[in-house]
Amino acid sequence: MATKRLQAYQDVLNRTPKHMDYDGKVSELFAKNVFHADTMREYLPSDAYKSMMESIQNGTRLDRKMADQVASAMKDWAITKGATHYTHWFQPLTGSTAEKHDAFFKPVGPGKAIERFDGDLLVQQEPDASSFPNGGIRNTFEARGYTAWDPSSPAFVIGKTLCIPTIFISYTGESLDYKMPLLKALHAVDQAAVDVCQYFDKNVTKVNATLGWEQEYFLVDQALFNARPDLMMTGRALFGHSAAKGQQLEDHYFGSIPERVTAFMREYENEAISLGIPVTTRHNEVAPNQFECAPIFEECNLANDHNLLLMDIMEKVARKHDFRVLFHEKPFSGVNGSGKHNNWSLSTNTGVNLLAPGKNPKTNLQFLTFFVNTIKAIHDNADLLRACIASAGNDHRLGANEAPPAIISAFIGSQLSSLLDEIEKNVKAGKMTPEDKTELKLNIGKIPQIMLDNTDRNRTSPFAFTGNKFEFRAVGSSANCSSAMIVLNTIMANQLKDFKKNVDSRIDKGESKDEAILKELQKLIKDSKKIRFEGNGYGDEWVKDAEKRGLSNLKDTPRALKVWGDKKVAKLFDSLNILTPRELHARQEIEFDSYILKLQIEARIINDIAQSQIIPAVITYQNKLIQNVQGLFAILGEKTAKTSAKAQLELIEEISLHLNGLKSKCDVMLEARKRANDLEDLEAKAIAYCDQVKVHFEEIRYHADKLELLVDDELWPMPKFREMLFTR
Ligand code: ADP
Ligand code: MG
Repeated sequence: MATKRLQAYQDVLNRTPKHMDYDGKVSELFAKNVFHADTMREYLPSDAYKSMMESIQNGTRLDRKMADQVASAMKDWAITKGATHYTHWFQPLTGSTAEKHDAFFKPVGPGKAIERFDGDLLVQQEPDASSFPNGGIRNTFEARGYTAWDPSSPAFVIGKTLCIPTIFISYTGESLDYKMPLLKALHAVDQAAVDVCQYFDKNVTKVNATLGWEQEYFLVDQALFNARPDLMMTGRALFGHSAAKGQQLEDHYFGSIPERVTAFMREYENEAISLGIPVTTRHNEVAPNQFECAPIFEECNLANDHNLLLMDIMEKVARKHDFRVLFHEKPFSGVNGSGKHNNWSLSTNTGVNLLAPGKNPKTNLQFLTFFVNTIKAIHDNADLLRACIASAGNDHRLGANEAPPAIISAFIGSQLSSLLDEIEKNVKAGKMTPEDKTELKLNIGKIPQIMLDNTDRNRTSPFAFTGNKFEFRAVGSSANCSSAMIVLNTIMANQLKDFKKNVDSRIDKGESKDEAILKELQKLIKDSKKIRFEGNGYGDEWVKDAEKRGLSNLKDTPRALKVWGDKKVAKLFDSLNILTPRELHARQEIEFDSYILKLQIEARIINDIAQSQIIPAVITYQNKLIQNVQGLFAILGEKTAKTSAKAQLELIEEISLHLNGLKSKCDVMLEARKRANDLEDLEAKAIAYCDQVKVHFEEIRYHADKLELLVDDELWPMPKFREMLFTR
């Protein structure tokens, strides 16, 4: 009987590309399934349209009457798109999105029914919240949670469902999701940035954070995926010897994309485009079967919704094409992992990108202000940035010589480095003469609009300036970007508030505005110097250098998550009204818990696969060898057979060695798990899982992977790396 693996492999060889039949213009699809401003204008009475626009732009509340009108318009529009149901779409702290579907249909009398959807149903819902993580926020007797409409992200139709983006809060109004704190952080950075912009341009009344994410992922054939319990249950291969050919040849990067994959990409892209997600680039990544999708950047909250939506669409469309998409940060050891670069900037209602060098000294001083404040914010909150990207999956990636190191630093390129050095040296301590100022302004005026050295930029930095935005590269591919964006926008808001206060106090003491700004910038440049690093982030040298500089190197998730418990951190989030200490604490608990759960599942699957798949296959093969040896002894006699069966005897022994290794390490791990499970305290438990359980994963795998090379290929139970990574 063929193994599951060989059957699966046969399926894969028989596959053909499944091209979709849409041949129209892609531009005509754009936002076709989105209830956007133009659609609203068409479906709403003008006063309702106006209040809706105001609500989108300024976050004002819609009154009941307007909400009814919007709901009814939304329903009418959605029905024209074939929708029969609606759902509040939200982002619980599980990491994915959730929805609860209800029908528009409502019986109103014998044999009579209508399609109903009013303001109440639009504005607030009460999904069964008991199964979502809450970190102790919800009391058992009050398990209710509410979802509340976020008008700043437009509703959309997928299939037959109208989806309404919402926040998710507890009965007591505390946040249980990613969206609510994100909206608050975006509001805080908006206010703080507008205040600072007033030094330069009085017309600035609104500043949006912008986010452009780049989503990396792997594709695996569905049949092979289904034959790998580890991929199915944990998203990563817990066993598997590297393929003889890996990514050494780098022939995959920008190589031609296989037809089956192109067909998949075309279909999900078209679907994404019809939902208003501006996807444009698609290319291969470094590792075999790894790809990337990067849309044009958008306002941060919308961009994040779009990322989650796209991940969902990709998973659904992949199945149609007999693929599974893997968003795990490290599905296959030995080849590159996946990240999700978060490109971030701030942009004004006057159309200015605050992190793009301008055309004249004044706009350049504004650029420098935001640029230097960002670096200072990174410097002061490096540990928080490390914490917000920490996860069991990302631990395999950070610091693993192919992804950003776990040490947070900022790369800015040589041109800006020398400019900052110059400001640091040349801004005089006392009162500046007009000549001093002119010279500095001249220097600042010389900042080129395009940073030449950034075109070939340092790819080993976790946080890099890339000409007109910062790129936070350490975010994991499976993460909700909000985690990173909440922190980044919060620390920026805090830093800008601080900056404003200090500049104002200098002005009050008689310094001119420009002088006050420059002196304050000089101080920030000095104080944040140690976070700037232009060298190779993957090198061992950097680890030593960073330690000398006093930068943290938090190598694993449990250590990184500790920072959420800091009093300073609680004060920061509380003072800006983003998360209360209770909400923050709940989040830390949820993160610890999720880390423990992931490792627990991995440990169980490792044990299951070892005991019920690998060991039986190994014994079957060993028995074959034993039979063969016995046969040789029977026909040749002991003396001759000993020589003839030398190879078989050696193999039998080698197999026994690894079999014993595998089994005994599994037993040791089981004991370690028991001890870890007995711990009550979540932090202690997470640390025990990290230090005492996870350490055995590699040892167990070592023996299993050796056995994979020894055992008859026909008998090996699970698809091998070469099959998963090189068959399409
Ligand atoms: P790569 O990092 O692969 O070289 P690019 O530098 O071309 O890619 O662009 C990366 C991403 O940066 C794109 O998704 C783009 O939309 C985004 N981006 C460009 N400008 C901004 C901005 N002002 N704010 C946020 N994201 C931006
Ligand atoms: Mg990038």
